[in-house]
Amino acid sequence: ARKFFVGGNWKCNGTTEEVKKIVSTLNAGQVPSQDVVEVVVSPPFVFLPYVKDSLRPDFHVAAQNCWVKKGGAFTGEVSAEMLVNLSIPWVIIGHSERRQLLKESNEFVADKVAYALAQGLKVIACIGETLEQRESGSTMEVVAAQTKAIAEKVSDWTNVVLAYEPVWAIGTGKVATPAQAQEVHSELRKWLQANISAEVAASTRIIYGGSVAGANCKELAAQPDIDGFLVGGASLKPEFIDIIKSAE
Ligand code: 13P
Repeated sequence: ARKFFVGGNWKCNGTTEEVKKIVSTLNAGQVPSQDVVEVVVSPPFVFLPYVKDSLRPDFHVAAQNCWVKKGGAFTGEVSAEMLVNLSIPWVIIGHSERRQLLKESNEFVADKVAYALAQGLKVIACIGETLEQRESGSTMEVVAAQTKAIAEKVSDWTNVVLAYEPVWAIGTGKVATPAQAQEVHSELRKWLQANISAEVAASTRIIYGGSVAGANCKELAAQPDIDGFLVGGASLKPEFIDIIKSAE
């Protein structure tokens, strides 16, 4: 069985005071045990060491990005080796904001995923279509191409969580309906089965992201191929605890 996974992507938000407050709210939250749900929060780089050290031991941390290869003369970048050195277990790679605003291509994202995995990091790999792509009927084609680029460079999927985040649902309040999300998750699982293996298809967590909130998470979580969430805005609020509880 796939363990439910709830990630909190804080994006580029937070002051030291706010981060302290979020951590204390998380630490006080009553949530199901680690056997039931894996919780990973992803603060901006500068807050990572603080959050890692002050967060309850059953929650883990992720970076929001890392460099595509070994560190060196790459001003402004943070390498996978540095994350490993700081015992940061997870990294988010290929978020749509980076794909769109920073022009990260499928190949570049795939190279990052492969490199981070090779250094021993666990990866939340993000995929998803834009509104224009959905409306033109190319959703599956787009997410399959994003996944294929990764599959061409990654053979062991044990440490990969696939996050399906339709761009039109991110930060818009327009959550995908449970049926819309389930349809893509199910197709993605079929894609994994056909192109990688039945085992990878059965064991890889496919999580949904895009306007997930306390009010809509239960119905989404009840879908057979939705194995958790990657939460943006609501992960900065006490509501994140309610979303974690949807694992049960
Ligand atoms: P929102 O939950 O704010 O829509 O963001 C989703 C997201 O991009 C998580 O990575």
